Amino acid sequence: RGTAGPYKRVMLKLSGEVFGGGQVGVDPIVVSAVARQIATVVRSGVQVAIVVGGGNFFRGAELQQGGMDRDRADYMGMLGTVMNCLALQDFLEKEGVQTRVQTAITMGQVAEPYIPRRAERHLEKGRVVIFGAGSGMPYFSTDTVAAQRALEIGAEVLLMGKQGVDGVYSADPNRHDDAVKFDDLTYDDYLARDLKVADATAISMARDYKLPMIFFSLDTDGTIVSVCAGEKIGTSVHA
Ligand code: UDP
Repeated sequence: RGTAGPYKRVMLKLSGEVFGGGQVGVDPIVVSAVARQIATVVRSGVQVAIVVGGGNFFRGAELQQGGMDRDRADYMGMLGTVMNCLALQDFLEKEGVQTRVQTAITMGQVAEPYIPRRAERHLEKGRVVIFGAGSGMPYFSTDTVAAQRALEIGAEVLLMGKQGVDGVYSADPNRHDDAVKFDDLTYDDYLARDLKVADATAISMARDYKLPMIFFSLDTDGTIVSVCAGEKIGTSVHA
C-alpha cells in the first residue's frame, strides 16, 4: 500500500457537532458524506483512526449547569460519542470500508474494548478504527483523548475536523468581525493566547510529545481528503 501524500497513519478527530449537522442527534446525510471522504482516504493507502466527540448529544459541562453532578453528566457525554461511532461505522461499511469500533467503556455487544495493539493491527489491515466513549473518565475531553490515542497508536498527525470554523482564530470568528485566522501557530503561542478551539490539556499533551495538529473545517466537502493528502489548509499547530 503506497501512499501519495506525506502520511502513513493519521488520527482524525471529528467533533460531535459535525454528526448532527448543527442539531441534536445524527444527520445521515452529513455522516454519509464524511464517510465517503474517509473511504477515499483509506483507498489512497493512508491508515485512518478516528476519535469522535459527542457534543451533538450531551456535554458534561452543560448538563452540570442544568444541575447534574459533573461526573455522571460526563458519563452521559461519553455514551453519546458511542452513538456517533456506530453511525459512522455504518456509513463507512456502506462505502465498503472495514471498520472496528473500540470503546473506553466496555460494551461488548456493540464494540471491542480499547486495546491499542489490536487497534494497530486493524489499521495495518486497512481497517478504520473508531474510538468511542472518550477516555472512559470524567473531566476529560475527546480532544485530549484524540491526542492520547494518536500518540499511543503512533499516528503522525492529529487532524482536528471542526464544524463552523476553518482553523484557529485570534478570537471566535462567528462573534468577532476582527478575528484573525492563523495559518501556523506554535503550541506555546496557542496556550499563551488561551485559545479555545481545542482544550489546553490536549494542546499541552501534543506539545510535550511533539504531535503536530491541524485544525480544519468539515463544512465544505473534500477537506478530509485534502488534509490527509498533505494540502495546506486550516491552521497547523506545532513546536
Ligand atoms: N467526556 C468525558 N471524558 C472523556 C471524553 C468526553 O467525560 O474522556 C464527556 C464530556 O462530558 C464531554 C462529552 O463527553 O463534554 C462529549 O465530548 P466532547 O465535548 O469532547 O465532544 P465534542 O466537543 O468534540 O463534540
